[in-house]
Amino acid sequence: MASLHTSHRTRIVKEAAKHAGFDYCGISAAQFLEEEAPRLESWLKRNQHGTMQWMENYFDKRLDPRKLVEGAKSVVSVLLNYTPAPEDTVLSEGEAKISRYAYGKDYHYVLKDKFKIMLQYITEHIGEVHGRAFVDSAPVMDKVWAKKSGLGWVGKHSNILTKNSGSYFFIGELILDIELDTDGPIKDYCGTCTRCIDACPTSAITEPYQVDGSKCISYLTIELKEQIPSDFKDQMQGWAFGCDICQEVCPWNRFAQPINKNEFSPSEELKKYFEMPFKEITKDVFNVLFKDSAIKRTKIEGLSRNLAFLKKDV
Ligand code: SF4
Ligand code: SF4
Repeated sequence: MASLHTSHRTRIVKEAAKHAGFDYCGISAAQFLEEEAPRLESWLKRNQHGTMQWMENYFDKRLDPRKLVEGAKSVVSVLLNYTPAPEDTVLSEGEAKISRYAYGKDYHYVLKDKFKIMLQYITEHIGEVHGRAFVDSAPVMDKVWAKKSGLGWVGKHSNILTKNSGSYFFIGELILDIELDTDGPIKDYCGTCTRCIDACPTSAITEPYQVDGSKCISYLTIELKEQIPSDFKDQMQGWAFGCDICQEVCPWNRFAQPINKNEFSPSEELKKYFEMPFKEITKDVFNVLFKDSAIKRTKIEGLSRNLAFLKKDV
């Protein structure tokens, strides 16, 4: 089976992505990211990664997947839609708002499970193939690979955008040791639009395609472990975990396709809690509401800090 023609193997890999439940799949050759190297270096030099020290690590590995997976030949990128149903977006509309990606189950687990199914399908149909899956993982530049593989373009807000269904997608990569046919990048459809830049409350999008991570509300509410600097008071617009403003204003998200109820939909308890007037959160409530959620990553201390900071704001 290992002698299958490249185009046949490619077809099987794409079928495998579909079989596992991913919405889009694109492929690039596992090579050194030549264009990206100087950009990454200058971004790090400008210190726009804030206190995210881990971004400075794995510099070589981040630019070359062959340093991450022995014998790597292909990087398979996938997208998984998490656009909530309109009745669920209440969580991003109340006094304390939650980013859409965090409404339901922690996506790291969901994507990893799907990658297991995908790899199993590949080995069943192609033969012995070695692969390693990455989900939001420091050494892999997921948006760069997704763009290279033609899944979308990177918008001026630095998120990946699809023409048919907007930007509310999780990204993952499966690095494989087999050669596959590659997909080319697509055009950038941002045009003259600047809505995301104009709407960002902290001016974190310093110029088109450049996000100063240290000013972004997502970083301030999730990655930052210290107190949120008082300069950001009155700028948070109620975001308690992450921020969706630049995606909400993006015209391409008119085409976002809401998911049917699934693991990314919020529980009724969570909706009820965030629909109520603003209040603090206790440990017991936190553990129940966010049992399997990505929000657990900030721990109760992180979310309480954010809510307290917002309270000063409201
Ligand atoms: S997520 Fe929010 S703070 Fe960050 S760049 Fe977008 S609008 Fe600005
Ligand atoms: S809001 Fe406009 S500029 Fe920003 S990503 Fe969307 S299309 Fe591009």
